[in-house]
Amino acid sequence: MSGGFVFSEKPIRIVEGSGTTLVDDAGTRYLDAGASYACVPLGHGHPRVTDAVTTQLQELTYVHGSYPSPARDRLMAKLVALAPGDLDGVWLCNSGAEAIEAALKFARHATGESTIVAAKRGFHGRTMGALSATWKSQYRSGYEPLVDGFEFVDYGDIDALEAVVDEDTAAVILEPIQGEGGINPASTTYLEAARDVTAATGAALIFDEIQTGLGRTGSFWACTDHGVVPDILTTAKGLANGLPIGATLCRDWVADDHGNHGSTFSGGPLVTAAATATLDVLTEDDVPANATAIGTELRDAIEDRVGDDLRDVRGKGLLIGLEVKRGVTRVARQLAVDEQILALPAGRTVLRLVPPLVIGPDDAAAIVDGVDAVVGSESTE
Ligand SMILES: *Cc1c(COP(=O)(O)O)cnc(C)c1O
Repeated sequence: MSGGFVFSEKPIRIVEGSGTTLVDDAGTRYLDAGASYACVPLGHGHPRVTDAVTTQLQELTYVHGSYPSPARDRLMAKLVALAPGDLDGVWLCNSGAEAIEAALKFARHATGESTIVAAKRGFHGRTMGALSATWKSQYRSGYEPLVDGFEFVDYGDIDALEAVVDEDTAAVILEPIQGEGGINPASTTYLEAARDVTAATGAALIFDEIQTGLGRTGSFWACTDHGVVPDILTTAKGLANGLPIGATLCRDWVADDHGNHGSTFSGGPLVTAAATATLDVLTEDDVPANATAIGTELRDAIEDRVGDDLRDVRGKGLLIGLEVKRGVTRVARQLAVDEQILALPAGRTVLRLVPPLVIGPDDAAAIVDGVDAVVGSESTE
């Protein structure tokens, strides 16, 4: 079921991965321009992460979170050091949706209020709480009733946001750039307005940086670019370079009054060792700077070569959306099957490029050639 929507006509069975390359069971090599859903910012099988995991696996694979563990302590310290502003509280879990569940629960508990305001076209995950904050009926239908108390506003509309947030609001949850919804960036004034209205009413501002964080937009967190610090920030996807993990970072007023929440595998030694190694490489090698440099190059080259064949090019760093003039599923499939480039859809008409953040100029050039071959060809179809 999962993933079949893109490759249903010609399944690609991936059996090996190294760096930006994936190999299928027939030996065909693909350029992973989607970083396997942004989960491998350092590329597949990065040696520093593999070493950290191998060592930890032999030392101690798992111990419950009720025992302090050096591996977990190292990750928490690293996350706090990298967090924007004063987000000093760290909750660890096993996925993006769980990071969102925690954010929603903590916000309700710390404020004592219940209403959560989310944005249309936003995506926050598929568990009942995260899904309740996710707008599109495509994800929701057949699973209702969802959790009560969620309201949706148009993303980017300051008046609409100010009209709905009041003393009963527990949280406003936003992606700084909407990912699944089509790579829609927010303006600084919008995020500032969200900050101001939540501060004024006592609601928690939650930024979902599960897709935008960890250097993808060129800054370590997208919100830093806008100078806006939320009360709660969620991260996941690439945090352990392919192992399942999520984290919810909180300001003290939220962390100190977060209630009783828990999860058995939360912050286990194996994934936390992988995450610490991932963060070490991201910072030591200044990987976000590469996202800016290559992202700019990639985007400029695409605009030059096929700008006229696209409706729009959006995004920042290595979170790039190409709005195509036909159904994106076919474009993504053609890119994969004919050009051996694995990209992702974002909505019905946007092709999403979220390659590993360590890609070089050759990979970028290959992506441009592939996109040109598929999108540029539509005029001759
Ligand atoms: C992927 C994603 C999620 C959900 O993460 P899962 O690990 O799939 O549960 C939530 N929010 C955003 C912005 C995402 O991109």
